[in-house]
Amino acid sequence: CVPDGTVVNSIEVRDVRKVFGAGENAFVALDTVSVSIRQNEFFTLLGPSGCGKTTLLRLIAGFDFPTSGQILLYGEDIAGLPPFKRPVNTVFQSYALFPHMSVAENIGFGLEMLGKPKSEIGARVAQMLRLVRMEHLADRKTSQISGGQQQRVALARALAPQPKVLLLDEPLSALDYKLRKEMQLELKRLQHETGITFIFVTHDQEEALAMSDRIAVMSSGRILQVGAPREIYDTPAERFVAEFIGETNFIETDFLGRDGAQARVKLPSGREIRAGLSDGHQPADKTWLVVRPEHAQLTGAEGALLAGTVENVVYLGTDTHFHLRLDHGPRFTVRRQNTSAQAAGHHASAGSNESFQPGQRAGVTFAE
Ligand code: ATP
Repeated sequence: CVPDGTVVNSIEVRDVRKVFGAGENAFVALDTVSVSIRQNEFFTLLGPSGCGKTTLLRLIAGFDFPTSGQILLYGEDIAGLPPFKRPVNTVFQSYALFPHMSVAENIGFGLEMLGKPKSEIGARVAQMLRLVRMEHLADRKTSQISGGQQQRVALARALAPQPKVLLLDEPLSALDYKLRKEMQLELKRLQHETGITFIFVTHDQEEALAMSDRIAVMSSGRILQVGAPREIYDTPAERFVAEFIGETNFIETDFLGRDGAQARVKLPSGREIRAGLSDGHQPADKTWLVVRPEHAQLTGAEGALLAGTVENVVYLGTDTHFHLRLDHGPRFTVRRQNTSAQAAGHHASAGSNESFQPGQRAGVTFAE
């Protein structure tokens, strides 16, 4: 945002289609995609393998061209600009570092190519080394540093020419779980400190939720929803989005009518409840109620919103998952956060989920 709070778009993708091949072999990788990415935003393209994330990134970078549609950078169509003339840089999954060069030489490489004076390169490389906390390894060859350190060098190299937009294509996928978590925080910090627009590609929904200002959820060459992590999680626009982002219970209900911003629906048990409607959603006679496992609790089966039998209880340290088979057929998961009182064997809350065992009858409630 600029000081008066106006949103400035860094990248605008307008009605972009990308078709690979021709005739019978034509494959639509991007199907009329439109999205605006704001200046200074951590924006994530999230979707399963093959949905078109990398294709969109490559079009923004200029490695490939749209079949139709436009890509604007600060309002200017960049179709005529080759990749090296775009103020856009890319960090690849493979890092693509030069193994025979030192860390500092790798970071300075792009600046050398741009013909920058030596003194400027030296100062900028030093600044980048500090930014990614790699000063102590400046003279080490990149073949002699760890995967996480290589990742930092790749980031520093891409940030050194001060691009307006940084594209990151699954940059953390080669790292182990712990390092990956660490680098997620590091990337957020780098984005914040540099103020550069980051466009990040991942198929990992947890990673997208943890890092992004906004997320675009993609499937089969289309963008299904764009929103802040909480928005996407709490009010998924489509079933695919709800399923892809986190665990979800779907209950088929009869739509009875609107009540302001809410819908009145009838559950398979015959009970009627009110539920929030997703933005712009036009409910059909049969409509899906989405209940996240952490928003549901177990109760006695008698008089509950839904009833069933406990099939499995899975203890996961911080949470316990209770998997039920509901009386009308589908499965339902309830997640309960484990408190220290429960760990110590004190069952503070009456009617807690604690006592439910596989084979037992149980009811499910959730806030309307
Ligand atoms: P992943 O997470 O696996 O990298 P992705 O979402 O990035 O997947 P893309 O690489 O953008 O997916 O590919 C989208 C679709 O376009 C895929 O089905 C892919 O096979 C196809 N595709 C990509 N490049 C080409 C090409 N040069 N020729 C033909 N088809 C291609």
